[in-house]
Amino acid sequence: MFCPHCGKEIDNNASVCIGCGHSVTKLNNVPQDSSSAGWWWLGFFIPVVGFILWCVWTGSTPIRAKKALWGAIFGIIASIVIPIILYILMVVLIFLGMNYSFY
Ligand SMILES: [Zn+2]
Repeated sequence: MFCPHCGKEIDNNASVCIGCGHSVTKLNNVPQDSSSAGWWWLGFFIPVVGFILWCVWTGSTPIRAKKALWGAIFGIIASIVIPIILYILMVVLIFLGMNYSFY
């Protein structure tokens, strides 16, 4: 395997990197959980993927799982609300257009 800190090739069973001295076993055994905004956007644009990731990660990496879930929820809300807003806007514009054409 390679050290995640310096990239030096080290023994698979090594607990400390011989190159930089960082502990490496902890990084390999515990999944890294971070609240990266990228997972939110992934869930937002592809809600199905967001829900799947939430199901998969909710036990191991809850912060990341929650991020993907919220992205998916907002993605679904946006996919319902945005067309309604566009529809209302279109109706208003047609209505205004019709009014102007009469004068
Ligand atoms: Zn290293």
